[in-house]
Amino acid sequence: MKPIIIVHGGAGDIPNSRVQGKLDGVKVAVTAGQEVLNKGGSALDAVEAAVVSMEKDDNFNAGYGSVLNLQGEVEMEASMMSGTNLDVGAITLIKEFSHPISIAHKVLTDSPHSLLGGEGAKLFALEKGFKVVPSDSLISMNAREALKKFLKHGEFGRTEIGPEDEGGVGTVGAVAIDAEGRVAVATSTGGMSGKAVGRIGDTPQIGSGTYADDKIGGVSTTGHGESILKFCLAHSIIKLMEGGADANTATRNAVNAMTARLNNTAGAITLSNKGEVGVHFSSKRMSWAYVKDNKIFYGIEHGQVFEEQCK
Ligand code: ASP
Repeated sequence: MKPIIIVHGGAGDIPNSRVQGKLDGVKVAVTAGQEVLNKGGSALDAVEAAVVSMEKDDNFNAGYGSVLNLQGEVEMEASMMSGTNLDVGAITLIKEFSHPISIAHKVLTDSPHSLLGGEGAKLFALEKGFKVVPSDSLISMNAREALKKFLKHGEFGRTEIGPEDEGGVGTVGAVAIDAEGRVAVATSTGGMSGKAVGRIGDTPQIGSGTYADDKIGGVSTTGHGESILKFCLAHSIIKLMEGGADANTATRNAVNAMTARLNNTAGAITLSNKGEVGVHFSSKRMSWAYVKDNKIFYGIEHGQVFEEQCK
């Protein structure tokens, strides 16, 4: 099997001022993941590397740069799934760690549980040697501005808030297949600006934000969390592929069906277990990138596909 990786940097009303940063960020992230695969690394390590890259980058709503809850705090969530044995690991309501996805990976490999939240997730992370950072150090200027704007005239459900220079963030995700044909998916988020304290969205919920099955493929989603989880969007896409749809048709049909039914937007990236790619979003924009045949393909607008030689 030829390894492949695809990433997304979040769906939403991304303002023009944030477009370039996101395009650059998804290219850096997909390259980080591809390097792991090129060295013979596992799909799980590749999706972690790609997501870690975006968690460091405040162009994205994950790790540093996460959006804020109503009390002005970061509360992050992440999930990871391996398609080989359907192993999962997820965390939610975590505040003081730079890389939630790495903790989710540890839950997958080292915990008998699937999803750990809040204080328990923190205890687990500390036990496994993850270092706490001051939660304020994860807060970016954009995230503060986005919350201010939300508190003035907020409408919950928008991850990208306000005119130019405000908000402009996005959940991140990655789907990869390694040389052994193993499928893995990772998704990480700060959630929605102005969310209630303790709100849990789609991202840590397997079947909603993330799904992987070596027999079918893998999906990572982004967008309006309450809608994505009601629709089990990631698993809906997998089910369409299981029924014979190709990756792109399955992604498009499930995202559009969710939007038609629930009147909120989303996006998803998909790989079939044969390495076919699916990208679709019903939001205004979604940044994405994948590497194939030593070329990076990427975009953020509907119908847009840029192509560049890998360095
Ligand atoms: N799905 C995320 C959430 O609702 C937000 C996003 O994808 O931007 O928490």
